[in-house]
Amino acid sequence: MIIETFVTTAFQQNTRVVACERTLKAICIDPGGRAYEIAEYIRRNNFDLQAIALTHGHLDHVGGVADLHRIFPNVEIILHKEDEPLYYALPEQPLFLGIPRMSFASLGLEFETPPKVTRNWEDKEIYKLGLLEFEIRHCPGHTPGHVVMCERREKKIFVGDCLFAGSIGRTDFPGGSYEKLMDSILNKILPFGDDVVVYSGHGPETTIGKEKRTNPFLNALF
Ligand SMILES: [Zn+2]
Ligand SMILES: [Zn+2]
Repeated sequence: MIIETFVTTAFQQNTRVVACERTLKAICIDPGGRAYEIAEYIRRNNFDLQAIALTHGHLDHVGGVADLHRIFPNVEIILHKEDEPLYYALPEQPLFLGIPRMSFASLGLEFETPPKVTRNWEDKEIYKLGLLEFEIRHCPGHTPGHVVMCERREKKIFVGDCLFAGSIGRTDFPGGSYEKLMDSILNKILPFGDDVVVYSGHGPETTIGKEKRTNPFLNALF
């Protein structure tokens, strides 16, 4: 598995291009921005982009979808059904963060309505990318339609904003739930195993085992 990270937006979001090294089939997980650089990277490496794969609908994860999809108009856009309202409300999302409309332009938070989602993630589906197989798990809590993607043989999981090195996702946004997030982390993410490397939507990589031992939201439970 080839993984390239592009840090995007003022929120330092980790956009990732993930490719199967044998077939060069690729996905872009959570394009928050920098679409032209991402497209250039994809072309330079002769990757065959098959989808824009979204963990959830927050602006720092989807702000680059429109530009990337204009460059690659035939690729799928995949998002869980329950995050579609958030996704299509992208132009209004800064208001949810308490940012007044008059400040959108100066903060670089002016967004167009993003292109149509072409398919919805299903809980427990297997998503194939060349020879890679991602297990998709619906993990609500940070948003209602958040998903994570785990490649079990490669021992890598992409968790969006559910879990971070030393922290967990915020649950104080509309549709958030601390109880649901903890249930998602404990019962759907951690069981993938201690040696699985965690790729979060913000911050550095970690492992499930390290978070069980050291994450203040989790370590009292283990
Ligand atoms: Zn988020
Ligand atoms: Zn985020």
